Amino acid sequence: MDNTSVTLRCIGTGDAFGSGGRLHSCFHLDYQGGQMLIDCGCSSLIGMQRCGVIPAAIDTVVISHLHGDHFGGIPYLLLEGMYASQRTRRLTLIGPRGLQQRVEAAAEALYPGMIGKKRSFPINYRLLDPKNSLQVNGAQIDCFRVRHGRSQHVYGVRVEIGGKVISYTGDTEWTDNLIPLTRGSHLAIAECFAYDVPIPGHLDYQTLLQHHSQLGCRKLVITHMGPEMLSRLDQLDMDTVSDGEIIEV
Ligand SMILES: [Zn+2]
Repeated sequence: MDNTSVTLRCIGTGDAFGSGGRLHSCFHLDYQGGQMLIDCGCSSLIGMQRCGVIPAAIDTVVISHLHGDHFGGIPYLLLEGMYASQRTRRLTLIGPRGLQQRVEAAAEALYPGMIGKKRSFPINYRLLDPKNSLQVNGAQIDCFRVRHGRSQHVYGVRVEIGGKVISYTGDTEWTDNLIPLTRGSHLAIAECFAYDVPIPGHLDYQTLLQHHSQLGCRKLVITHMGPEMLSRLDQLDMDTVSDGEIIEV
């Protein structure tokens, strides 16, 4: 089964520092049966509004790791549902161990009292686990452990919808786990913060070039680029994505 169509909107393709004026990581998948975000960094609600994505229509959010430029937009997504759209649709939040505690702590820090307020919509938390696939809202979600920071609960995410596979590295330095993560994907989205100086916890362009053929994906695009990568956009032999870009998968 390979004829399902999935539309990917690149809501945010930036790094944590806002390099190049790009928004924090957030990718929107629109498919028959649901709408999903992969990562939801702090600026994601702004990005969704720019792209015409209706926040209250999102069914599922998958978070690769618990850094602000990847999950910090969830309190705003909840806030929008509570006070702007009076959302009723169930929201499933999926991520590493500790997701619910971190989301609630962030929400309480930003809008005290928010978590205790009655909501018009249910939230369902699910945990990523490399040993188990999740079946959620018409999608199969798998994760692979990657290497970024001190936590071991940091993942690359693979989403399969009706035979279409989208893989996403999250933030990571090179690890051989990226090979099964991306193998056979119709689209792989790889972070590439640096150009040729390896930085702990991140990929750089030269390392990615070296391993490109091992990834086994039909199409590879790079995101989460830092200043040096952005200054070399016209010299790269790989496709990049920018905020607002749409890819039909
Ligand atoms: Zn990041």
